[in-house]
Formats: sequence, C-alpha cells, structure tokens
Amino acid sequence: MVSSPLSRLKIRSRVLHTAPKGFTVMNDLSCMIQGCQGRVYSPAGTQHVCKEHFLSFLTWRRRKGPQMFTHYAGLTMEQRDSIAAEWSKTVSVIEAPTGPAPQS
Ligand SMILES: [Zn+2]
Repeated sequence: MVSSPLSRLKIRSRVLHTAPKGFTVMNDLSCMIQGCQGRVYSPAGTQHVCKEHFLSFLTWRRRKGPQMFTHYAGLTMEQRDSIAAEWSKTVSVIEAPTGPAPQS
C-alpha cells in the first residue's frame, strides 16, 4: 500500500481553492454586528463575525446548553441566521473609537 500523503495534500488544497457553489468570496466582508469594525473571522450562518463576536456567539450558545450546540450543528446556513440574529440582539456594540484606532 503506497499512498503518498504529499499527493493527497495537493489534491486537498486544490479542492479548498474551489469555492462551493453559491458561496461568494468577497474582500470587503465585515462583521455582522452593526458598527463593529472587526476583521471577519468566522461565518455565522450566511453572515460573518469577527473573532471577538465569534467568541461571544460561542459563549452565548454554550450558555443555552449542550442542546443548543447540537441543534446549531445540525442547521443549515440559512437556519443558523435566525440563531445568529437572536444572539446579535443580545450583543451590545463596543463603542467604536472616534479618533484613530488605538494601538492594541
Ligand atoms: Zn464583530
């Protein structure tokens, strides 16, 4: 049995470069939370959230209990939107600095 892991990796990376049908890769994606300037980190349903809000979403779902986790995992992207929308209502937007962004 000779199967080179390298050639398998090559095939896999080629697959990754092919965007799934219906998925549009955009360069100007922004966090779904209004007023958030965070860089997009992860999808939340059909939208996207920054890392901070992704963790917040994760915490929110965790608080809802393990059932929510299982439930969410079985949802389609569109169905996840309503969960994300519910969560986003609980998010208080961190006040964006008016001046130049402070160094963090
Ligand atoms: Zn955000």
